[in-house]
Amino acid sequence: MSQTTKTTTLLVIGGGPGGYVAAIRAGQLGVPTVLVEGASLGGTCLNIGCIPSKALIHAAEEFGKARHYAGESALGISVQAPAIDIRKTVAWKDGIVSRLTGGVAALLKKNGVEVVRGWASLLDGKTAEVQTADGRLRIQCEHLLLAAGSEPTPLPSVPFGGMVISSTEALSPDSIPRKLVVVGGGYIGLELGTVYRKLGAEVAVVEAQDRILPTYDADLTKPVAAALEKMGVELHLGRKVLGLNAAGNALRVQDGAGAETLLAADRVLLAVGRRPRTQGWGLEGLQLDRKGNALRVDDQCRTSMRNVWAIGDLTGEPMLAHRAMAQGEMVAELVAGRRRHFQPASIPAVCFTDPEVVVAGLSPAQAESAGLDCVVAQFPFAANGRAMTLESTDGFVRVVARRDNHLVLGWQAVGRGVSELATAFSQSLEMGATLEDAAGTIHAHPTLGEAVQEAALKALGHALHI
Ligand SMILES: Cc1cc2nc3c(=O)[nH]c(=O)nc-3n(C[C@H](O)[C@H](O)[C@H](O)COP(=O)(O)OP(=O)(O)OC[C@H]3O[C@@H](n4cnc5c(N)ncnc54)[C@H](O)[C@@H]3O)c2cc1C
Repeated sequence: MSQTTKTTTLLVIGGGPGGYVAAIRAGQLGVPTVLVEGASLGGTCLNIGCIPSKALIHAAEEFGKARHYAGESALGISVQAPAIDIRKTVAWKDGIVSRLTGGVAALLKKNGVEVVRGWASLLDGKTAEVQTADGRLRIQCEHLLLAAGSEPTPLPSVPFGGMVISSTEALSPDSIPRKLVVVGGGYIGLELGTVYRKLGAEVAVVEAQDRILPTYDADLTKPVAAALEKMGVELHLGRKVLGLNAAGNALRVQDGAGAETLLAADRVLLAVGRRPRTQGWGLEGLQLDRKGNALRVDDQCRTSMRNVWAIGDLTGEPMLAHRAMAQGEMVAELVAGRRRHFQPASIPAVCFTDPEVVVAGLSPAQAESAGLDCVVAQFPFAANGRAMTLESTDGFVRVVARRDNHLVLGWQAVGRGVSELATAFSQSLEMGATLEDAAGTIHAHPTLGEAVQEAALKALGHALHI
């Protein structure tokens, strides 16, 4: 096969949220840019992550509502025999994905970015080789941006294949299993476990630690655990997974005392985390500094090699699309000669469980371990009118602020629809708001956001509606 060579200023490996945003911004700034993508533009997030999972969460929610109204309803609504055609649901979800990935391709083109389709292998810190449909292409660059993302972490005792699936397969089912066992009580496992439960599967979640969502504080996760149990999801906490049974129709799990139980399963969703994609494409040869299994970067996303940058999931936690995008935008500006640093006041995180969880900035425990003297206040949705009209009064908004000058350090919330509060939380942290700023802002009535104002008022000692 023929080989051609191309040169560019910026070469981006990976067209996920990190890579494609970097390329768009570089294009806007007039930096000659080539982006290489081996699978599909949009990366994990648009194709097999954030967007498809939220689409299925919405579909399952709507179906769940229909099933709810087929029973007794205080609202006076009745529905007869709701059914779901999961292939149609998946086709609808795929339509959203292709609209978005098509949009990314159009934006890259509009901004003059050259997209090369194929898998890249690094030859050195300035050269990559790509196997394209038309042959081998060698690309030389001044700046190399590594944005290859992450992949599901395997579990040796339960290898992927057959009935053992990852989130990727779970997002495109052609049928609903009767019994699904989810291994991993993190946000991906719980979001998808909730989807399958609402679609009618019997769902059991196995988690090694003694509570779900172990990276979030216990007060926030309790309403989620209670809602899962109410939905009929079995939670098996503090359990080790030993493997499938010989018949291949159940998962063997062990509790802390060594007792073994069998959890019947038609499908097992393995969601024990994601790992940076550092193997198999020549990255090892660059011998870049690592932080655990991720690439180590400084506060400008520079690796240990000059003019080699890395962003997104490849650089480790928090593995979130909005972090990858913010890093990508910054690197493009640095390559274009601007002065930038990655020092966000907060990177918010949301679990789109039912109820949802949102965190931004410091939790009370994090503030305490940083040696900060803080005031912490919480306002319950049970005292919020809008929550009552939405039939979702479980949950609360909590604020953490310095006791001396009332600077807000963190926000947390759990409740239906609280993901949309992430904007207010992040803006107040980024703008250095005080409790007085949040409490003195007129919030529209009736909205869930009033609980934000009320939490700040409560921290100041004069909540109005509690
Ligand atoms: C089920 C699920 C739900 C999620 N939900 C959310 C959410 O709600 N909110 C959120 O913020 N995050 C969510 N995430 C995480 C989010 O998807 C990632 O943090 C984000 O996609 C990371 O972006 P990235 O650009 O670093 O990498 P990726 O999106 O993984 O993109 C990397 C790209 O690089 C390509 N690539 C890799 N190696 C090569 C190579 N050698 N040559 C060419 N191309 C290559 C890959 O094909 C891929 O397209 C979710 C993830 C999953 C799995």
